Amino acid sequence: MYGYSGKVLHIDLKTKKNWVETKPEEWYKIYIGGVSMASRLLWENIVPGCDPLDDGNPICFANGIFTGTPVPVGGKFGLASKSPLTGFIGDSLSGSWFSIALKRAGWDGMVLHNSCDRWTHLFVDDERVQFNDATYLLGKGTFETEEAIREKLGDEQIRSCTIGTCGENLVRYANVTNDGRQAGRTGHGMLWGHKKLKAVSVRGTHGVKVFDPKALNQLSYDISKSAQGKDTEKYRIFGTSTGLLNTNKLGVLPTRNFQEGVFEDAELVSGEYLDKHHKVKVIACAQCPIACEQMSMVKTGPFAGAMTGIEYESLFANSSNLGISDMRAAIKLITISDHDGMDSITMGVTIGWAMECYERGVLKKEDFASKAHPEGLELNFGNGDAAVAVAEMIRDQEGIGKILSQGTRIASRMIDEERGTESFKWAVNTKGLESAGYDARSLKTFALGLATGTRGGCHNRSAAYDPDMKGETNRLTVDETRGRVAADSEEYAAVYDTLPLCKFIRRCFTGKADRAGAWPAIANLINATTGWDFGYDEVDLIGVRACTIKKSFNIREGWNEKDDDLPWRWKHDPFTKGPGANTVVTDEELEYMKKLYYQAKGWTEEGLIPKELLIKLGMSDVAEQIGV
Ligand code: SF4
Repeated sequence: MYGYSGKVLHIDLKTKKNWVETKPEEWYKIYIGGVSMASRLLWENIVPGCDPLDDGNPICFANGIFTGTPVPVGGKFGLASKSPLTGFIGDSLSGSWFSIALKRAGWDGMVLHNSCDRWTHLFVDDERVQFNDATYLLGKGTFETEEAIREKLGDEQIRSCTIGTCGENLVRYANVTNDGRQAGRTGHGMLWGHKKLKAVSVRGTHGVKVFDPKALNQLSYDISKSAQGKDTEKYRIFGTSTGLLNTNKLGVLPTRNFQEGVFEDAELVSGEYLDKHHKVKVIACAQCPIACEQMSMVKTGPFAGAMTGIEYESLFANSSNLGISDMRAAIKLITISDHDGMDSITMGVTIGWAMECYERGVLKKEDFASKAHPEGLELNFGNGDAAVAVAEMIRDQEGIGKILSQGTRIASRMIDEERGTESFKWAVNTKGLESAGYDARSLKTFALGLATGTRGGCHNRSAAYDPDMKGETNRLTVDETRGRVAADSEEYAAVYDTLPLCKFIRRCFTGKADRAGAWPAIANLINATTGWDFGYDEVDLIGVRACTIKKSFNIREGWNEKDDDLPWRWKHDPFTKGPGANTVVTDEELEYMKKLYYQAKGWTEEGLIPKELLIKLGMSDVAEQIGV
């Protein structure tokens, strides 16, 4: 087989045994890599119905088809487990040298079963598996842990996935980090911490064999050249944060915990402001010629020295969404989340929820008492110092930080139960995952994409904000096209997440990002890598199958139609300002769009998947378990 080794490494963390599973080429043609293959490995290896923190929930890695080849932005891996945050599929993606090392070690995927009995650093050295004591790594941040491992093992080429103190402390939305990039969202870090797994390192010394190296080099060269052109210019110069002024103009920039969609100080927290005052350099994921990550530093004030990569999603969550207009506080907050290893979106949105609780009198100053602030905190919107103190309490599980470390869904339930309040009304999450930086009240196709998304409120999995924001749909109303549009944009995004290729390359094939522009070029890359004969239709099916395996997983874990819902605020509480003022997504509109979406997918009225469809997609074994 070309492009793959055909082998998946299984490791039992409890017994310390490992074994190799070989997979047939046909299996790879269906699941390809990234989030689809990782989700399929999870489907095969989880104990169905187990609690996310039970030993039956494995950690599944899947490499990309282009990882370790010259194909630009193809150095990524997928990571899947049942999410401690949502209870459904937790599928993440990270651009990383770790994935290249894993492929060079000879593994297309890796499944870690059960739990360690003490803190462990797992080291996969080509074919050898070592269990190392991780005590010396405890208390270290994500980047420090990677460095300490390289130093201890004396090899700069060793690549690691790590958790920081947030994972050790079981913050429910802790991340897994590698090479400064995060396999974020859905709380992988909490599961790793629960399994006492501080880090997984890999050293790979083999090559990656492709079918037609000459053709693949030429195709890759052409795409890399085009990736230096105008189609990626905004990412290269300003990074994704350059979108902030646009979302503000459209009135969909989450502001003060999604109470409004327009932030009066948007200029001060824009990508352009960041570029002028804080940017120190740009960095790139592995195998990437674009380099969109803007390393930014605080140069003055109490947070001087804080430095991390800033992108739009982290920025909205920790600036406008908290009413914070001091970029220095936003950078400090994002530095805490990256360094200590928690999801910056969920952290920011959870602090935003707490700020609203404070302003509405549900939480009081004394509720925020800590060792550093025994008198408590005045957690008003805009108070950057207090927000930073609360982020540290979350990390350390101190005082109310313990509750906030659970994310908005669980935290609001705990507070409402204790105080008889209704703070769930401003807990902005979908299936338990905090929403990303596009307020969906006035992006109605995107609202549908979020409600039906398998991992919850995620902008990466549903790309339906794009047609709404570009005016291809009337974003303030609903109509009979929305089911198809939401399904198409989700499946389109899933192609990129499965190969995986970074979506920012999408215009660099032919200048057009649509299927007609990109799929034939992607088919050429796949064929030169593997020797297969993929065309437009086969590429299109990659996304359909990825969405199907993830949905099938959720169905087997107990999903029902009621789980496809939106935050209370988006259904009942309109903005007062901006182009989206007075708009909500009503229950009737949501139900109408959901039916259209299920229909567009070829599912039943209740959102279940017919057996024949699963069989047609090559998933007969899945059909036997969940098909109707
Ligand atoms: S464009 Fe940005 S996100 Fe995409 S691979 Fe490159 S550095 Fe990573």
